Amino acid sequence: MDGTHAIGVDLGGTKILAGVVARDGTVVRRHERTTPQDAPQHVISELEAAVAELLDDSVAAVGFGVPSPIDRKRGVVVQCVNLPLVDAPLRDHMRERFGLPVEVDNDANAAAIGEWRAGAARGVDDVVMLTLGTGLGGGVISQGRPFRGAHGAGVELGHVVIVHDGIPCQGRCTGRGHLEPYVTGLAAARRAQEAFGPAADAHRLVRLANEGEETAREILVDIGRHLGSGMGSFANIFEPALIVIGGGFGVAAWEHLIGPAEEVLRREALRPMRDEVRVVRAQLGTAAGLIGAGFVAFEALDA
Ligand SMILES: [Zn+2]
Repeated sequence: MDGTHAIGVDLGGTKILAGVVARDGTVVRRHERTTPQDAPQHVISELEAAVAELLDDSVAAVGFGVPSPIDRKRGVVVQCVNLPLVDAPLRDHMRERFGLPVEVDNDANAAAIGEWRAGAARGVDDVVMLTLGTGLGGGVISQGRPFRGAHGAGVELGHVVIVHDGIPCQGRCTGRGHLEPYVTGLAAARRAQEAFGPAADAHRLVRLANEGEETAREILVDIGRHLGSGMGSFANIFEPALIVIGGGFGVAAWEHLIGPAEEVLRREALRPMRDEVRVVRAQLGTAAGLIGAGFVAFEALDA
């Protein structure tokens, strides 16, 4: 094995995106599977299948981005909000299964690392990444290093309170008024169904807005404003030079969300943060997470 490539796996609420990643972040092969919603063992076996599909002699390590706080020391997935994985010792299980170095990180931390090393945030030392998919993931690069808190469980930017005692959060989260239930693809689907009937989803909402449908546009403006509340607070906390918006829904709805989000961001952030910060769409698109998971794998390999 020459150690030139790693497999990066991004576990999302609806899809598993995997790829063979070179050291410069280039994706040389990809594979996609559907995320099972039932038993934890089913999720693990689909992750294994995604890796097995891509594995060859060029691959020297495997990295996983998982939508959960991670205990990095033990390589354990603590509790996914939107998937049935709780206290899963993913790192050791996959090390044993494939006989390679394996590392596990939060999916949005991985996406932030991907954009920082190979995408929109290359060369920028202070970055906040927000991934809008089934959930809202957050990743932070601070002073040129990934910021992960005491045990690697940080940063859960989707679970900051923007409305005291507001609407219940998603999935297993017991909180109320968190940013997540206002701005995710799941939130968009719920609002699309209220407006356009039970068959509507986030894709249809964005398509209708693209076609100029007024109610669809208004819903996305409202989602954008809520996103701006979060972004303003994150600008005040982290003083980022760049906020990167990614994730399936974030990338698809970008043109509708970004105007209202920036307007609220500039209102809520203090100087000099509001003058310094720029907001951009993820350059790596929905591949940011799997590319970042590849970099996390190289970290394990080089450690
Ligand atoms: Zn929450």
